[in-house]
Amino acid sequence: MPLIMITNDDGVDAPGLRILAEALGTLGRAIIIAPERDNSAASHSLTMRRPLRVREISADVYAIDGTPADCVMVGIKKVLPARPDLVASGINPGANLGDDINYSGTVSAAREGTLLEIPSLAVSLATANGEPCLYPVAARQALILAAELLERGMPPNTLFNVNVPNRPAVEILGRRYTRQGRRLYDNAIQETFDPWGQRHYWIGGGTPRWSKEPETDVQAVQAGYVSVTPLHLDMTNHQVLQGLLAK
Ligand SMILES: [Mg+2]
Repeated sequence: MPLIMITNDDGVDAPGLRILAEALGTLGRAIIIAPERDNSAASHSLTMRRPLRVREISADVYAIDGTPADCVMVGIKKVLPARPDLVASGINPGANLGDDINYSGTVSAAREGTLLEIPSLAVSLATANGEPCLYPVAARQALILAAELLERGMPPNTLFNVNVPNRPAVEILGRRYTRQGRRLYDNAIQETFDPWGQRHYWIGGGTPRWSKEPETDVQAVQAGYVSVTPLHLDMTNHQVLQGLLAK
């Protein structure tokens, strides 16, 4: 029976995590190892200046007082009874498209799984602010992809970044394999003043501008498709490298 590690960046109590574990639990033994608290936008940070505590919440559910990457690293090396066959991260309430990938804790958890040579995927639901999250729709897509990955495996050094439109299953047009687009934010830094008149800056929110390039994750989700982007651990710009070496 496959062993599947489920994690996220929203914390162990997040509804998307439990729904993902329930769905993938039909493929094997799903064990949750997730951060104690919300770690959204924690990216791939590791906790190195204090020890980490693992708390067993119930059967096959563990919380770690660290980041998503901590959970995957400590989870795989110290908590799980064996090496997992799959790491699934999510379901994040909010898309992880284009430039978001750089900041995403959801994607970084899957990236850590890939660094440890386990097939990994990150699953996010592309919601608009305040909209109810249709988690079961994304869970169903995650289940289909996870079954494929368990059967066929994953190319080395590669993870899947999956974004599902937040719409009823009948309104999802299909799956598209995509490349990473650009998702740019206007006014992403709010200026506020504290009671003493001191100026502060608050990062978050802002209005996303969508890149118009074709075949991107951004474009697929906007058009109503499930976007699956194969991300590579190697961030080298090979084209530029070839040019530099040719000089
Ligand atoms: Mg999150």
